[in-house]
Amino acid sequence: MSVHTHKCEVVYFHPDRNHRLLASQVLKVGLRRIVDNQYLFQEIKWVNRARYLGLYYGPDSPFESCTDELFDAGQRAMYAVISKLRRKGLFIPRIALRCFDSQIRAILSYGVQVWGPHFLLQLLDRPRDIQGRYCYFDRAMEDRMVGIQRTFLRSLASVGRVPDNRLLFREFGQQPLHIHWATLIYRFWNKLVKAKNNIFHNVFREEIRMALLSDCTGSSWGSLVLRGLRCLGHWPDIPVDGELEVRVNVLASKEINIDALVLTLKERFDEDWVNPRLHVQPREFVSDGAKPGVKMCRYTHWMGLPQHTTSYIPMVVYTSLLRFRLGAWALEVNRPTGRPREQRWCRVCNHPNSVEDEYHVLMECVGYAEVRANFARLGVVQGATMLQIMSIEDQLGLARIIHGIRRTRLSMMGRT
Ligand SMILES: [Zn+2]
Repeated sequence: MSVHTHKCEVVYFHPDRNHRLLASQVLKVGLRRIVDNQYLFQEIKWVNRARYLGLYYGPDSPFESCTDELFDAGQRAMYAVISKLRRKGLFIPRIALRCFDSQIRAILSYGVQVWGPHFLLQLLDRPRDIQGRYCYFDRAMEDRMVGIQRTFLRSLASVGRVPDNRLLFREFGQQPLHIHWATLIYRFWNKLVKAKNNIFHNVFREEIRMALLSDCTGSSWGSLVLRGLRCLGHWPDIPVDGELEVRVNVLASKEINIDALVLTLKERFDEDWVNPRLHVQPREFVSDGAKPGVKMCRYTHWMGLPQHTTSYIPMVVYTSLLRFRLGAWALEVNRPTGRPREQRWCRVCNHPNSVEDEYHVLMECVGYAEVRANFARLGVVQGATMLQIMSIEDQLGLARIIHGIRRTRLSMMGRT
């Protein structure tokens, strides 16, 4: 056998750290190298972490630490994709999101079948909060890999910070990476189920046996994967008090219904969007710090689901639309500066009692009457609600009007 000596490294696995240190000083590992028809002894370097099949690991850190390198690579890829698409004028949602999936998400999911269950359980295996919420979305936001996803979406919407990331993800029809990870993990499970009479299947069965022996409390792969199913309420129907061997057999031949499992996850990620708090009209909404908040309320009542992803809209105009929908314009209502809500008057029309919010700007303020006249040309009928206007088919026309309002506003506020 011939190998590339520069690509070889020695990793010594032993539970005792001192033993490993000693071994590294005493043992010499080498390969013979042919130089000028002579064999030379080439010593191989000792390392604490090495890359094998694309993932880095070693005896000093838990297996999940292989995501350290994936995180760095994913972050580099993200900045590279953003700057490349920007230079070509292609940093628009439809194209950028596809590039994210193929270039960045692929890195952030490499080997997830093995390391993913640990991260999935960071969301799943925790008690609900006092209001009975699962809080999966908030916990997903704490994941650094999802942080890369969030930074990408923020750049796409040209917003520095969004008060609520739920709006940002919904605006682009995205879900935290965990949904993709869960899909890959349980697809892998199903592949192992189907691989009967294969060596992987035997390993898989041993994993299940070990997990059942500890009632899935261990940290082995099988325990984590099965615990995930239990948390999601998708624990397979197996005889509870059957013999261990019988239960192992049943589980090892049970395919997971991935569609149903993903649906449960999505429902829990979206739990706040069906909260009764959102039934209140935005202007009557009392912000008390609890979730969901007023931004979600305005988004639901005024903006509606995004309709712009299929249209071509030039980026300058698009940015105005996206920032408007996300409640990221510097409207008075979005700038508390210590004033109660009813004192955040519109400085464009200076009308008493007119709080400058997204509704006022689009539907009420006399300052934009001229720009608003263009709605008739887009087929907007008299008496249409804001939700209807925001959902019209001609999203390019809508974006142009909203951009026009923004420019008028900036010039009237004495800014260019
Ligand atoms: Zn006004």
